[in-house]
Amino acid sequence: FDDRDGFIWYDGALVPWRDAKLHVLSHGLHYASGVFEGERAYGGNIFKLRAHTERLIQSGRLLGFDIPYTAEQIDAACKQVLAANGQVEAYVRPIAWRGSEQLSVSAQATKIHLAIATWAWPNLFGENRMKGVRLGIAEWRRPHPQTAPSASKAAGLYMIGTLSKHKAESEGFDDALMLDWRGQVAEATGANVFFAIDGELHTPTPDCFLNGITRRTVMSIARRRQIPVVERAIQPEEIKRASEVFLAGTAAEVTPVRQIGELHFTPGQITETLLGDYEALVRMSPEEVEQRAPI
Ligand code: PMP
Repeated sequence: FDDRDGFIWYDGALVPWRDAKLHVLSHGLHYASGVFEGERAYGGNIFKLRAHTERLIQSGRLLGFDIPYTAEQIDAACKQVLAANGQVEAYVRPIAWRGSEQLSVSAQATKIHLAIATWAWPNLFGENRMKGVRLGIAEWRRPHPQTAPSASKAAGLYMIGTLSKHKAESEGFDDALMLDWRGQVAEATGANVFFAIDGELHTPTPDCFLNGITRRTVMSIARRRQIPVVERAIQPEEIKRASEVFLAGTAAEVTPVRQIGELHFTPGQITETLLGDYEALVRMSPEEVEQRAPI
């Protein structure tokens, strides 16, 4: 990933992709004191850019640091690097981390860095997406919010995600469905999950995992379509009641699910409608998106 042409925005300036390096004694590497975002540009516009930027700033605060740029500056930097790379359809990855000025659990003297990269990444699940993805059930569980800052998109929280995803992949699945510490259904390793049950859309209450920007967008789209949306605790035994299942996330977009463990699903009307509406929405201008108040 490091050997490419193009630019990365790094601490205030565009640098050639191959030169965007950091020291091996960076605190972020040793102690996972980093937070990041995942955004998508469609037709040259980054969808819900300000919401992502605000979450990035908030993620840093939850880890005890302030990113040394304003939301306006971060938004401008995302647009600048996208343009410098000549991309209109791209994934956008800002990351903030503690530097190498101090290397111990205490990191008060570290400087906060920010880098932003963009690259072509059509969909998290590639060509498997439209026929529906297959999920294994993870053994690792989303931690209690008093065990980890679960509302932060913190690099360290992805450790159990990578372990779970690798296990699922080794068993032939595309991704893992993670439960939380109580044993309730939580989310996939990089996307939220939705179930169509009796014509309603059910999704777990995000009390120990990210309340995704895509998740909230999909809930709003569903309500516009008069589909009742229910946020609640969902037990794994209830999954078999679902007629349709899909994932929602910036990288995953709306991805139908065709299998969870031993259970099989057929993507149907609700998934197709919401997938179509989401694809239309992300291609609207930022002004049009703003004007559509969430419901
Ligand atoms: N959960 C996890 C673990 C994620 O990595 C993501 C992607 N950021 C999401 C949920 C969905 O969040 P969003 O819709 O804001 O991309």
